[in-house]
Amino acid sequence: MKIPELHLDIVEDTAICPSCGATGKKHSFGRRKVRDFNMIKIVKYSKHYCTNCEKYFSQRIDGADKNKRYSNRVIRECVRLRKSHTLEEVSIIMRRDYKVEVPQATIHDWVVNAEEKRIRQS
Ligand SMILES: [Zn+2]
Repeated sequence: MKIPELHLDIVEDTAICPSCGATGKKHSFGRRKVRDFNMIKIVKYSKHYCTNCEKYFSQRIDGADKNKRYSNRVIRECVRLRKSHTLEEVSIIMRRDYKVEVPQATIHDWVVNAEEKRIRQS
């Protein structure tokens, strides 16, 4: 299965520090693969240093949480499908309809996380 790759460059010279709101200068680069519906986004982003709180931070990637290898909408769709399908079926549907390869164990983790979040918020 050939999955289209989309290269995105979101490098900026400065970015707002998520901890204190000050401006952090570019320090270095990073590259992340985010598996999304029908494509793999390869994102080049900048890492920044905040002199105010002396912390490093990375630029946010739209639609994908920190350290996640899949987009938020892929995760949401898997959690939704799992309500009426087995893990195996969800994995098959994601591959067939969205060209996203998601291991069953990963889907299982997302469902557990979503459930824990729901309990915390209720
Ligand atoms: Zn800061």
